[in-house]
Order: sequence, then structure tokens, then C-alpha cells
Amino acid sequence: MKRAAAFLLWTGAMTAAWQAGVAKVDITPDEPIFLAGYGGRQDPSDGVTQRIWVKALALRDDTGAISVLTTADLVGLDVELLEYVRGRAKAMHGIPPERILFNYSHNHSCPVTGGVLKLYYVLSAQQKAAVERYTRKLHDQYVDVIDRAVKDLGPVALGFEQGLAGFAVNRRRSRPGTRKLPGPVDHDVPVLAVRTPNNKLKAAAFGYSCHATALSGTKVNGDYPGYAQEAFEQRNPGAMAMFVMGCGGDANPLPRIMNSNEPAAYELATMYGKILATSAQLVVDRKMIPVEGPIRAAMGSAEIPFQTAPTREELIANQKKFTGPRLRYNNYLLAELDRDGKLPDRYPYPVQVWRFGSGLTMIGLTGEPVIDYCLRFKSTYGADSTWVLGYNNELLSYIPSLRVLKEGGYEGTEAIPEYGLPAPYGWAVEEVIAGKVEELMRSLEK
Ligand SMILES: [Zn+2]
Repeated sequence: MKRAAAFLLWTGAMTAAWQAGVAKVDITPDEPIFLAGYGGRQDPSDGVTQRIWVKALALRDDTGAISVLTTADLVGLDVELLEYVRGRAKAMHGIPPERILFNYSHNHSCPVTGGVLKLYYVLSAQQKAAVERYTRKLHDQYVDVIDRAVKDLGPVALGFEQGLAGFAVNRRRSRPGTRKLPGPVDHDVPVLAVRTPNNKLKAAAFGYSCHATALSGTKVNGDYPGYAQEAFEQRNPGAMAMFVMGCGGDANPLPRIMNSNEPAAYELATMYGKILATSAQLVVDRKMIPVEGPIRAAMGSAEIPFQTAPTREELIANQKKFTGPRLRYNNYLLAELDRDGKLPDRYPYPVQVWRFGSGLTMIGLTGEPVIDYCLRFKSTYGADSTWVLGYNNELLSYIPSLRVLKEGGYEGTEAIPEYGLPAPYGWAVEEVIAGKVEELMRSLEK
């Protein structure tokens, strides 16, 4: 976005070529169900402290193309749901896959769903059935919310600007002996505001790069992103707030109180939510830079190599050495090897780019990227006009940068087995992703 545009007074009449539609669907479970994101919970949910949502913002530009941003108070999504919803969106409204962003807040107080982190949980048959019921319903709720957002299309103007919020801390420094590590964070709060021709706020999507892990109890809620959206919507009646997760793979909201339903933990989560909502409010209350269309969109796969996978002999030998979760991951790989004859040597990693006519660029990355990706792409493509969205598409794993991969640790190498991947990513991981982003950016040049 060119800085000169900031001198223009943004009014609803300026960019009348846009149409936008919004919709939300309540995805709060209606029965006790295991909550997602932590491996150690012993019991299913036993209450709801806040309702959780999937939301959609449909944008039609002056070429007639429709693009949809979806957000969710969910820990992640799996390929099965994505393929189903993409197919239905194409059939219903002709929306191609590159024009749907599936972002999730990585909320750790939502239900376990489908194939997300499937090796992580040990569920009874009864609990598996509850997860299946919830997941089946979720498929249709996604289709429904996109359909309703498209049917809600009406004239709007779009504005973009960024605020700041400071509670994200690079968590890789919080373990014993790791204080010496660098602790990069991104405290920017990018905001896309959607206003009707009479200047009423219809929706605001705001982003932040930080794990939704302020809470860890057995109550359903949206964690700090849920409290941020709720606070923003209370302050702006009639407007829909959407939380967009950035590259928060190595950031936590700190301080936090672990393993509890303690009121003090909820106070912290609520407070972080209010800080974020206030940051977004300060942005929408001042002049924003008009966003013009059209949206040029592209999607592709970065072929990320894995390091050398274990051999059959090693996997068999491990069966005598490992117990608990490690044995479970080991046997999963052995079964995969038996089924396919080999373990995969690469992951086809989805990358999306939306380039708006006025210069705003959204880069959508898959899974849990660490903050280096956000900082790198903003440095390369412009800190004032680049919004890097992490946590889109399938929750395949953490995505370390080369620096984090070399450092090792949880987000670098240790968490990889939890996701059922055969080996840590290869040294090319960051360059392969950056190369794909660059290729897509170039393909969309005017
Ligand atoms: Zn995570």
C-alpha cells in the first residue's frame, strides 16, 4: 500500500466497487467432548465459559471474483474437511481453492476434531464417537457459513492499518538453559476494516502472532482470541470481529497459569483479549488506508524435504525401547511403511497469496510457522502492506525456520513425531517456502 494513500480521507463512498458479506456459525459442542491441543488432559469438557465460532468474510471485487476469509476458534483443520469444503464452495458459488483462506486461532480450549493431531489423544470408543459427531457437523457448518457470507454480499469500503499489542513472548527462551536464545516476536496487529456506505463498521479482521494457550482447563472457550473478538463485538454492536492467527508457532501469551480451571487463568486470558481488542479498536477509530481491488490470488505447494526417515529395522528395534506416546508414533510410521512401501521424503506444503490492487498483500502459510517467516516476508515485501497469516489449511506440524531447525528444541525437531511425520524437516525448509512465496508473488504481478 502506497504511503501517499494515507492522506486520503477514507469514506464509505470511496471504494464502492467492493461488496462484502459476513456470517458466523456457533460451533460450541452440545455434549462433553475431549478438548484439543494438549496431550495431557484426562477428562472431557465439563462446561462452557464462552461460545466458539467459525466466521466467514466474503469479498467480491470489481471483476466479480469472490474471495473468502474464514476464521475459527479451533486448534486446526485436516485435509478431509478442507477438500470437502473447497469442493462445495466451488460447486455452490464457483469459488476456486486459492480464493478461500482457512485460518484458525489454534485455540487449545476447543473440541478435538477429525484427523487433527490424530496421534496425540487416547480416546475411548465413546469419546471417539463424540468427536466423529462433532466433526461431521463441522463440515456442514463450514459450508453453511461460506454460503451465507456470499448471500450477504453488499456494498462496502475496505481499510487497512496496523496497531501493536505486547503480550506475545518468544516461548523458546522460557525453558531451563534457553535464556541465551534470541527471542524474536512480532507485536503488529494488522486490521482489515469493512464499512458500509453509511460508514457503519460491518466487520473487522485483526491478526496477532501468538499461541492461543492462555487457558488449559476443561471448559470450552475461545482463549484470548475468543475474548478479543467478544470484547470487540461488544464495543461495536452489529459488527463481526474475526481473529486471524499469524506466525505464532514459537510465541505464548505470557505470563500464563498452566493446568487449571483457576479464575486467575481466565482473568489473564480475558485481559489479553481486551488488550488485543483495544489495539484493533484504536486502529479502526482512526483514519485507515483505503484498500482497493481486485484481489489477485494464487496457491501452490512448496515441496519441503524431510531429513532421513528411520528404516524398518530401526522402527522395529524402537518397539522394544519406546513406551507411551513415542511407541504410538513409532508404530504409526511402521504401519505407514507397511501400507505404502516407503515413508514420504517430502511434504507438499500449501502456500497462498492474495495481492490487493492497492498494494496490500496477504501471504497464507500452512500449519504452525515460527515468527521468522512473518518477519522475513514483511522485510522482503513491505512491513506496512504485508500481512503474513500462519495457521491456515491443515495443522501438519510446526514449521521451523532454518535458525530454529538448527537450534532444535520443541518447535525445531522434538514435536515432529507428535504429528506423525517421518523425520524433522530438511535444511532447505525455509528457502523452499520463501521460494514458493516469491514465485506466487511474481505470478500475480500486474
Ligand atoms: Zn501449537
